[in-house]
Amino acid sequence: IIEGVSSMTKRGMLIVLSGPSGVGKGTVRKALFQEPDVDFKYSISMTTRQPRDGEVDGVDYLFVSKEEFEENIKNGEMLEYAKYVDNYYGTPIKYVNETLDSGKDVFLEIEVNGAMQVRANCPDGIFVFLTPPDLMELKHRLISRGTDDIEVINKRIKKAASEIQMMRNYDYAVLNDQVEQAVERIKTIIKSERLKVNRV
Ligand code: 5GP
Repeated sequence: IIEGVSSMTKRGMLIVLSGPSGVGKGTVRKALFQEPDVDFKYSISMTTRQPRDGEVDGVDYLFVSKEEFEENIKNGEMLEYAKYVDNYYGTPIKYVNETLDSGKDVFLEIEVNGAMQVRANCPDGIFVFLTPPDLMELKHRLISRGTDDIEVINKRIKKAASEIQMMRNYDYAVLNDQVEQAVERIKTIIKSERLKVNRV
């Protein structure tokens, strides 16, 4: 038995960071990946939305057409996907599986509907919900980000209110009052997860 176990590569951990849009998931994720002791593999999402200024195809997202995205869905190539503010967003399954199989940890940063699909398919995943200090501040943050018009912002706020209700479907809640603190909280979660008996 011991020989069998040692000859197997331990599967990596799947870490899912989710929460309402505008809560700062992207900022926290980027800060987390700057940390010298963090070596997760980031799963680049596929989307049909237009690139924003400075975004690079294949780095920030895989930018595809609606037809291409729907083809991927049809062929079972998405681990999860969601339609969000009139665009598709999703996680290609191949990269995630191959990376986990090679023993490396994979990190997803996705909205809540997608996170629940991953939860259903990957019960071993670690699900972290990033929470804003409150909804009004979320609105101000979205406005000061200046990348979306007011109609889109209002849509996002409405969606965020229901997303916050979903927090109880997660393993952990991380308050994003300050980016560095949120990063430290996530690192603490990961450290504890690595110490779990069934992961040794
Ligand atoms: P944005 O357009 O601001 O880049 O992203 C909008 C929302 O889509 C954010 O909440 C972001 O976390 C989420 N998102 C990004 N990639 C994915 C993905 O692959 N799947 C899902 N379900 N949501 C995603």
